[in-house]
Amino acid sequence: MKRRNFLKQGALAGAGAAVTISGGALLSAGLASPMPASPPPAGIAGEIAKPAILGGRPVLSGNWPGWPIWNPETDEKRIIEVLRSGRWSRSEVVSEFEEKWAAAVGAKRCLAVVNGTNALIASLVQLGIGGGDEVIVPPYTFIATVAAVLATGAMPVFADTDPETFQIDTRKIEAKITSRTRAILPVHILGLPADMGRIMEIASKHDLVVVEDACQAWLAEINGKKAGTFGHAGCFSFQNSKNLPIGEGGAIVSDDEEFMDRCYSYHNYGMPYGTLVGAVGAGSIMAGTKLRLTEYQAAIGLAQLERLEGQTARRNENAGYLKKQIQDIPGITPYKLYDNVTRAAFHLFAFRYRKEAFKGLPRAGFLKALRAEGVPCSSGYATLNNQPYLAQAFQTKNFRKMYPEEMLDIDLYLERNQCPENDRLCNEEAVWIPQNVLLGTAADMGDIALAIEKIHKNADRIQK
Ligand SMILES: *Cc1c(COP(=O)(O)O)cnc(C)c1O
Repeated sequence: MKRRNFLKQGALAGAGAAVTISGGALLSAGLASPMPASPPPAGIAGEIAKPAILGGRPVLSGNWPGWPIWNPETDEKRIIEVLRSGRWSRSEVVSEFEEKWAAAVGAKRCLAVVNGTNALIASLVQLGIGGGDEVIVPPYTFIATVAAVLATGAMPVFADTDPETFQIDTRKIEAKITSRTRAILPVHILGLPADMGRIMEIASKHDLVVVEDACQAWLAEINGKKAGTFGHAGCFSFQNSKNLPIGEGGAIVSDDEEFMDRCYSYHNYGMPYGTLVGAVGAGSIMAGTKLRLTEYQAAIGLAQLERLEGQTARRNENAGYLKKQIQDIPGITPYKLYDNVTRAAFHLFAFRYRKEAFKGLPRAGFLKALRAEGVPCSSGYATLNNQPYLAQAFQTKNFRKMYPEEMLDIDLYLERNQCPENDRLCNEEAVWIPQNVLLGTAADMGDIALAIEKIHKNADRIQK
């Protein structure tokens, strides 16, 4: 069996997470799986026991399913029809995608927009969030979550992460509520559902709006109810690295018809909902913007949607199995799901790494050794609550007009927004394996566990 020991690892610009891409080629297979591992010929056992990073044989071939998946036979007919029709601006294909996505998540309405970031901004703005308001956010998320809050003129306030679940720690939220707090923006990070029951309780007690960042949580569920349908609005991303990839794209879902009409209007130059898109002279009823998805993007989305259910089932099966295989390795603590979670999206498979159990081998060394065994992995997010963009935002004209000086004092802000649990997770412990790896076989998951065990066993040699 041919073994390639390294994956090409590409961080997709603008993506929430790094994914592996196989030579940039479009993969035509539906759920292409790596070759099953064949038993090693006798006499090379020693070579296999030796870590690949020290010149031994890698446990895995590294031939993981590429991403995104594209099957010309099944996926291209609709797109070619759209291209030849000349109807490229939003029309019936976008509407069909919206209907199907609303049905998939069990929401009354869905509005497709240009990306997840703008889905968040539009939702916040149409829920009345703006300058002078505070929005509570987790620090363990992609920058777009916090950028969306700042774009509305509101002030992000960070509540620390629960390192066991990687989600916003609901025990830390109430202490962050002030007279300015208007909203909570929970993120179902890694595709694992946040504790929405508790978050909605806190929101209703304090009369706050909830916008769910479900940009990594397609078809994730709590008690059978889909992520994105608990709050006043739920936002999704269909960026290239995401589990439902369109290249760029996003969606807002909600059961609130009046809110959705306003979002529609906002995304179409402020023209009233129902107005023919782009109709000259239709008149505008609000200060709007332009966030429309194109017909060919929707056609890509419809093709990808066909696969999402099967892939999600597979990711759940493989993640559960891999979790069981690695949870007893000393120093390895996989993600925990809240009790009422019935399904996760697994945009990422995450665990915490403790170097003390690996003879002091730092996380970076562990990651390098794991990659050498053919397992794509990364350390994930940097801390978001102390990066330069915050001070920059506070110095803008709008912020200086909207907040008292004391609120814009960056040192005070950083002190009030410390998140020590999140610091440890980002700087020392988190390890991510990307979602396409979870489309491999059960045997592959067993091999990933073997690779980690091998590194554990040889940690002192690797460290030196
Ligand atoms: C990807 C992502 C976004 C932004 O989505 P885009 O479509 O890239 O704008 C927001 N939040 C999270 C958690 C994400 O992963």
